[in-house]
Amino acid sequence: MCVPTPASTLVVPVDLSSGRLARHFLEEHWCHQHSSAHLDQAKLLFTELVTNAVRHAGPPVLLQVECVETDGVLLSVSDGDPSPPVTTVADPADLGGRGVHLVELLSRDWGVRHHDPVGADGESAPAKTVWCRLGRRDPEPVPQRGGHRTDRHGARPL
Ligand SMILES: [Zn+2]
Repeated sequence: MCVPTPASTLVVPVDLSSGRLARHFLEEHWCHQHSSAHLDQAKLLFTELVTNAVRHAGPPVLLQVECVETDGVLLSVSDGDPSPPVTTVADPADLGGRGVHLVELLSRDWGVRHHDPVGADGESAPAKTVWCRLGRRDPEPVPQRGGHRTDRHGARPL
């Protein structure tokens, strides 16, 4: 259990260093009250999503990690391309490209949010965000202590 934290954000360059930067960023900002198994899953998912964003989308590529609820971690990868994430099956020899399939397998919940492609100040802003939530799939019943925390993100797949 942990107190939900403010999101940590990193902008990564659109090149092959981004996967390594993403893993390093997660290790630095990981809240250690979560299972280390989730950190391993998070690294895998972040690497895949960032690789997808770098290969198929474009700048700006932003990463975000945030504790959202008891035992829940929200990972977000934003990029400059409004098209949905690429879901083609990768060549077996290819190290990346399985992003969306892995996200479906490993995350508890995931989705895509679209944004206004141009920021209010005219600078380029991310066009979409692929987010996924990690945590226990079958939470044990927790004694109620008066009211549920509302989901600040309000985002649900479809
Ligand atoms: Zn936490």
